[in-house]
Amino acid sequence: MSPHSRVASGLRLRTAIGLGAVASSLSRALRRGDGQVIGGRVVLSACPDAFGRLTARRHVTFVSATNGKTTTTRLLAAALRTAGPIVTNLSGANMPAGMVSVLARTPDSQTPAVFEADETYLPGLLAQTPSATVVLGNLTRDQLDRVGEVAMVARRWRTAFADHPALAAVANADDPHVVWAASVLPDVVWVGAGQPWRADAACCPECGAVLRFDDTDWSCGCGLRRPEPTWWLDGDHVAGPSGRYRLDLALPGRANRANAVLALAAAARRGVTPERALAAFREVASVGGRYQVREYAGRRLRLLLGKNPAGWVEMFDVLAPAPAPVIIAINARAADGRDPSWLWDVPFERLAGRLVVATGERCHDLAVRLLYAGVRHVVAADLAAPWPQELGDAGSPGGPPLDLVATYTAFRDWLRRTGGDTDVR
Ligand SMILES: [Zn+2]
Repeated sequence: MSPHSRVASGLRLRTAIGLGAVASSLSRALRRGDGQVIGGRVVLSACPDAFGRLTARRHVTFVSATNGKTTTTRLLAAALRTAGPIVTNLSGANMPAGMVSVLARTPDSQTPAVFEADETYLPGLLAQTPSATVVLGNLTRDQLDRVGEVAMVARRWRTAFADHPALAAVANADDPHVVWAASVLPDVVWVGAGQPWRADAACCPECGAVLRFDDTDWSCGCGLRRPEPTWWLDGDHVAGPSGRYRLDLALPGRANRANAVLALAAAARRGVTPERALAAFREVASVGGRYQVREYAGRRLRLLLGKNPAGWVEMFDVLAPAPAPVIIAINARAADGRDPSWLWDVPFERLAGRLVVATGERCHDLAVRLLYAGVRHVVAADLAAPWPQELGDAGSPGGPPLDLVATYTAFRDWLRRTGGDTDVR
């Protein structure tokens, strides 16, 4: 690039960032949101290679998966902060515009970035950051109308990884699609994070034959098999090359322990010891409002996100045990996936013995599913007070909170209703 065109191109990036800042503040002034995504979109339309330019001098880690990417990003960011400043995206802003908006605040910085990346956007992002680190969790069915079939996403990942052999990867050895995609890379740290939901990996992504699974292993006749992990989840512990450590997280459930093992392995790659990473993880009690207990119309609600079958399979162990009732809020807007047929893949039969309050815009779809599952339920399209009387005094002050599991946009509505996203990042 000639000195003249370098100056012109630097000017273009700075102008784009200026325009983006104007768009963000307009959006905030008009109370249309925090303005991050619109600001990033304006930067990208004025300077399409802004992402690559803004990351040219930084190390970038992308965390991608169908489930757990927000939490894993949050845990990894907490661990890496113990070694110095980092930049990261807010939960939900996991497409390029959200990331560009974060980067544009410090355009010349070398501060490392840790980004949650939407699984469909990951390949495009890697084209601009060919020596990034990728942390890969799982691939399962979710928003089928937008994301598409799992096999297709895996194929796109594999093609992108093959095109960028300088990538470093930390990847879940228990997800056959993730293994198949990442195994084209020369530098992978495998993590035994587990994968209780297997319905999306019945067949081998390499040859199409039926995969053989046992408790801790999987393999195919064609040679694709579970790689030997460097780090693995072992009950409440994580084990790896430097020893065995108690996780002892503030976040509940097996899925979060799996997220923590991935984050720990990624942090170790970046030079953060397991002891320091775990101490940082234990400070994280809520992610984007999830697991927080909020008060609403005289009841205490614990807010949980349940957006697809793989997430729901892990949810049953997080819920207060039966006969505690549970509220389930189902929407099917664009960000939830407009097709709620995934409800039929969730083993809601496991809610037998407790009352379910079906709410949200698609509460009737859920009610039909619960009817077939033989689960006692009431439908309350709008859950404003008065509460359904079947709930009795569940969630009343002084007792345990009432669990409320919501799809993405329903969760966002409940956050707003109960006081907004009060997470500190
Ligand atoms: Zn095979």
